[in-house]
Amino acid sequence: MAKMIPMKERGKRTPRHMPEQDVHKRIHNFNEVSLGYTKEDAIYEAQRCLQCRSPTCMDGCPADINIPEFIKKIVEENFTGSYFEILKTNNLPAIAGRVCPQEEQCSKACVWNKANKAIHIGRLERFVADWARDNKIHLERVGIEKKNKKIAIVGSGPAGLTCSADLVKIGYDVTLFEALQKPGGVLVYGIPEFRLPKAIVEYEIGEIKRLGVTIETDFIVGLTKSVDELAEEFDAIFLANGAGAPRFLHLPGENLNDVYSANEFLTRSNLMKAYAFPKYDTPIKVGKKVAVIGGGNVAMDSARTALRLGTEEVHLVYRRTSKEAPARKEELTHAEEEGIIFDFLTLPLKILGNEQGDINGMECIKMRLGEPDESGRRRPIYIDGTNFILQVDLVIVAIGTAANPIVARSATGVKTNKWGYFITDENTCSTTRKGIFAGGDIVRGAATVISAVGDGKRAAKAINNFLQ
Ligand SMILES: Cc1cc2nc3c(=O)[nH]c(=O)nc-3n(C[C@H](O)[C@H](O)[C@H](O)COP(=O)(O)OP(=O)(O)OC[C@H]3O[C@@H](n4cnc5c(N)ncnc54)[C@H](O)[C@@H]3O)c2cc1C
Ligand code: SF4
Repeated sequence: MAKMIPMKERGKRTPRHMPEQDVHKRIHNFNEVSLGYTKEDAIYEAQRCLQCRSPTCMDGCPADINIPEFIKKIVEENFTGSYFEILKTNNLPAIAGRVCPQEEQCSKACVWNKANKAIHIGRLERFVADWARDNKIHLERVGIEKKNKKIAIVGSGPAGLTCSADLVKIGYDVTLFEALQKPGGVLVYGIPEFRLPKAIVEYEIGEIKRLGVTIETDFIVGLTKSVDELAEEFDAIFLANGAGAPRFLHLPGENLNDVYSANEFLTRSNLMKAYAFPKYDTPIKVGKKVAVIGGGNVAMDSARTALRLGTEEVHLVYRRTSKEAPARKEELTHAEEEGIIFDFLTLPLKILGNEQGDINGMECIKMRLGEPDESGRRRPIYIDGTNFILQVDLVIVAIGTAANPIVARSATGVKTNKWGYFITDENTCSTTRKGIFAGGDIVRGAATVISAVGDGKRAAKAINNFLQ
């Protein structure tokens, strides 16, 4: 049985590396890149935790996980206890442990961060969740009194799933409506298999269904039924329909053949398994030389997917530098290791095509960084006379997403801001119409999985208060 180690020993240890799939192999497959901790790795890493009386790490966790407590249970080899501790506040631990930007959240707030030795909290969370799945440990829902109130949740991404699970756990009757054929939102159609295996997403959604949530797929709120109609049937509604509409740059040539939005490119590959065509019947175009425009996680995912589909040369075109790129550091490193060519400080001006409408290049211009703009990042400025043609035959635009108005249009009295995002109270997620709440990307704009989880939790609490 492992045990706590003396404080002096904890200081001597260096953070435990997580094994990864060999780079030369992984660029030819869609299997997960990061391989997870072994039991020994997890205990070693957990033993480094100082069990702080005032754990600063928790300030960085939007899901309020009791981090020192779940880590302590790993040291004690009480993995079931550790799993249940996490489940008290986060219903998606195997997912969050894989895709949360911990280096910007809990690990950044860990006291060890000052010494560059932050505890790898996400890797530990992932270990515990994977262990529980492998050992068939389930949270049982026993002795919960039914409340006889019905709640509708719109959208099955992390915000909707979390809110559903939290409400069903306290006795509400919850139905989750999802437009697509599979629940999971971006976790299923956006984030690729090699970062987040779909079997894991299905498993955690299965656990939420086990708790009693009903999921209705192929149900487009705003089309199949309006929010106003749902409001007649249900006692409260949580709108968590995400921000899934693609955005474009409005460049000349953007309507040529073989210009994809990242959204369509990734949906084809992830949800419709186009990478296994013709086994699955959705095709996807694989260019010889591809340009991906953008610098966030979506751009990295698109570039790395294109590479795995067989593209010979993938360029990532971004108008600032790696320092300003919003993608997770880990994703940038993985993309670089895999041979993605970074064209930083480069702005696309025009996509060029031949008479048949096929792409035969992209005109770009070099940039330099000036003074910081309103986002705090240094403003990119053209360098005159540096125009050049990037030889590519496929372009993927990954510059972010926007709100789709279909849900808002069907919800009388629920106000949106000028970008179409719902206006809510920060603490309760309540909208401008009584009994209707909203959270996740459809309130924040493109954000993170864990902030969507946090909104789902806050909304569940507020809905419970509202219905009491
Ligand atoms: C490619 C990609 C990679 C990303 N990588 C990361 C990452 O590594 N780490 C991280 O933290 N975040 C990442 N993000 C962001 C993160 O995934 C989102 O912030 C998060 O999923 C938002 O959750 P949500 O529940 O608000 O919405 P979503 O996950 O967008 O889910 C919304 C759901 O609502 C459904 N819906 C929409 N309209 C309707 C309707 N009319 N009726 C019924 N259902 C509807 C949608 O089909 C969808 O299933 C990434 C995003 C993308 C696109
Ligand atoms: S701040 Fe770091 S060391 Fe302290 S309890 Fe949290 S994870 Fe452990």
